[in-house]
Amino acid sequence: MELKTKLALLADAAKYDASCASSGGRARDSVGGKGLGSNDGTGICHSFTPDGRCISLLKVLLTNYCQFDCLYCVNRASSNVQRARFTVEEVVHLTLDFYRRNCIEGLFLSSGIIRSPDYTMEQVVEVARRLREDHDFRGYIHLKTIPEATPELLARAGVYADRLSINIELPTVNSLQSLAPEKDASAIKRSMARLRVHIDEARQARQEEAERPITVYRGARPRRTETPSFAAAGQSTQMIVGADATDDATILATSANLYAAYDLKRVYYSAFSPIPHAASALPLKAPPLVREHRLYQADWLMRYYGFEASEITPPQAGGMLSLDVDPKLAWAHANPSRFPVDLNRAPRELLLRVPGLGVKAVDRLLAARRVRRLRADDLKRLHVPVRKVLPFVEVADHTPRGPAPAAPTKHSPQQGVLF
Ligand code: SF4
Repeated sequence: MELKTKLALLADAAKYDASCASSGGRARDSVGGKGLGSNDGTGICHSFTPDGRCISLLKVLLTNYCQFDCLYCVNRASSNVQRARFTVEEVVHLTLDFYRRNCIEGLFLSSGIIRSPDYTMEQVVEVARRLREDHDFRGYIHLKTIPEATPELLARAGVYADRLSINIELPTVNSLQSLAPEKDASAIKRSMARLRVHIDEARQARQEEAERPITVYRGARPRRTETPSFAAAGQSTQMIVGADATDDATILATSANLYAAYDLKRVYYSAFSPIPHAASALPLKAPPLVREHRLYQADWLMRYYGFEASEITPPQAGGMLSLDVDPKLAWAHANPSRFPVDLNRAPRELLLRVPGLGVKAVDRLLAARRVRRLRADDLKRLHVPVRKVLPFVEVADHTPRGPAPAAPTKHSPQQGVLF
């Protein structure tokens, strides 16, 4: 099969993987003519599709052959899709070629499982090793790891990759057992825990190295020894939404546990896409894409705004996020007693709960109120969305009249439930 055909097939097969953002990587460059490419360490995936998927990596599968038969996956063993397989050298060649043509800034590599988890993982790691060691490639590499592979292979993957990810696949162990019976929830968690240990150890070693005084030899430039890094951009995971009946409350609770237990950088939510010749256990329709979007917003609230998963999806909403309004606004309407918030006195954590106030806006407000009492006119100057914020706050010359306007209801909250 021609390389171009393989690329078309294996890039298409990888499109279901949403977890490819690259923020938090370690800075590398090729200044001085050494090596190829750079990774500015602040996140290279600055191009995103409207639904949040990153588009600047070469995102491919090593192969779409797979011996597993996960019901929701188009590449499962029983699927009759056209199959293809890259050699290690082909992926290396494509990555370097696209990089030199300025089409990509890195590689996202995943794979179906062929022969055995170890055999497949060895091939995936070998691609990254050749790029780094044989070609001094300094661009971004994200490897999707196979949880059933041996710990040694996972450890080697982290030496070459900026980010590693292991898909949790589904929000509950029961769902995993019924839709992907060959996958082992315990193995997934064990591998995530191992990655966390390696990442923490490497981070600590780098910190100790940074704090150690530099030894300067006569006539030589002062230099720090290079501490080996391990997946400096951390680990992430992906969860399919809407392939089973799990509600948003359970999904967010699972995410909260994953963040706490494995220090994940991100949980990615991927709306289930119906596949040809699907098993009867699967829904016929994809969930509304807005459900995926609401989950990302809720996830953001947990990570940066101090919300607990249980607050975002109260029981009276049937465990589902509203499709009509963002979760922060929905929370504000469900908790009128918490408003209005006094912008001149409220602590940071309360300001973060005001609909329309993002982290940066809150920091600007805190800085501004140190020098004077805030008035309604100040909000515009501070780039605060005044119409959205004013119904929920009071300032020196404004107190809202009555409760904030009710949220519109276009959908019933249960529309995202497929069963
Ligand atoms: S192991 Fe991965 S590629 Fe294979 S069927 Fe399951 S989800 Fe698909």
